[in-house]
Order: sequence, then structure tokens, then C-alpha cells
Amino acid sequence: SWSSSDSVISTDSAGDSAEPGSPYRVVLLGASGVGKTAFASIFAGAADSMDSDDFEMCEKEIEVDGEPATLTVLDSWDTDNEWAQECYMQTGDAYLLLYSVTDRASFLRASELRITLRRFRPAQHTPIILVGNKCDLVRRREVSVSEGRACAAVFDCKFIETSAAMQHNVWEAFHGIVRQLRLRRDSKEA
Ligand code: GDP
Repeated sequence: SWSSSDSVISTDSAGDSAEPGSPYRVVLLGASGVGKTAFASIFAGAADSMDSDDFEMCEKEIEVDGEPATLTVLDSWDTDNEWAQECYMQTGDAYLLLYSVTDRASFLRASELRITLRRFRPAQHTPIILVGNKCDLVRRREVSVSEGRACAAVFDCKFIETSAAMQHNVWEAFHGIVRQLRLRRDSKEA
């Protein structure tokens, strides 16, 4: 649930971490069950990353390419609720758009979310990575790597396959987001 005291989710300065050194807000979007909570837990460093279901937000400094970056990761919990969805869409500096490679419906949902995101983030180079999670479940795969890659190309975003269960590529996804945010920052400064 939203807690109103969390100033970090206020939308006044939506999408723009203007102050240098202020945290980047990274929003996890995707259908229910794709692994958002698992991602957030790995980010938070939970001992049992696959077994916490009340995680919502975590702020943490990480190091990427030898330079520190502070990220606030928001786990969107109810993407079927339109109001909640709009809050998330307006809140992020960057987005990890998750689907499960074992669930084609979640892949289609990711496309819908990408289109909605475009409405909220028009004409901006908001970093977005399309994330095909659960790649460890080889025999239950419904979405191929090339489909994922093609979708990302159409949507003009980066692509990565991950397994939160195996802790495979999860940090790469967060690091990729930081690299894109820095590129955007550097091109603004230039
Ligand atoms: P959310 O609804 O998007 O937050 O999804 P959860 O993080 O709660 O994950 C839903 C279920 O999928 C849980 O049972 C997780 O343990 C499981 N899960 C998440 N990521 C992976 C993964 O990479 N591989 C496997 N095998 N299971 C996963």
C-alpha cells in the first residue's frame, strides 16, 4: 500500500532527480508474479530474497563502474489499479519492465505497460530495460530470447534475461539502468 509519508514517491519533481547526488528512482513494473518482489529483495540484500512479499521501497548506494550511485527502488504492487499505475509511471527516473519468460501473458502486459509509459514519459530518453525473468525455468519457457530482443528493439529499450532465483543478471540490470541514467545526465551537461 502507499504510505503518504514517503516523500520519495511524491510526483512534484517527477522524473527528474535535479540535485546532484540525489537518488535515482527506479520503478519495477510488470504483471503480477513475474519476480518484481524477488528483484527488489535482491537489491535490498534480503537474506532470503525469494521469500519476502511485503517489500515496497529500498534506497541504497551501490557502486557502478567505480562510481557510487544511490538508487531508490520501488516495487509496484498493483498495476491493475489505474491510479496506482499512474503514480508509478510518473515517479520513476528509470524503469525495469519485467515479464516472465514462462508466461506469455506477462510479455504482452509488458508491451502494454511500455505503451502506457510512453504516454507519461513522452519525448524523453527515460532509461527502460525490458527484463525477461525466470530464465532458469528452461522447460517452461513460452517467450524466446529473440522475441524478447525484438520487442525491446521495437520499443527502443535495452533487453536482458535474468533469473532472480539463481541471482543471475539481476545486478547487471540495475547497473545497466545506472549506466543509462549517467549517459542521459552526461548528455544533458554537455
Ligand atoms: P511479483 O508479483 O512480480 O512481485 O513476483 P514475485 O517476486 O513475488 O515472484 C512470484 C513467484 O515467482 C515467487 O514464487 C518467486 O519465488 C518466483 N520467482 C521470481 N523470480 C524467479 C526466477 O527468476 N526463477 C524462478 N524459478 N522463480 C522465480
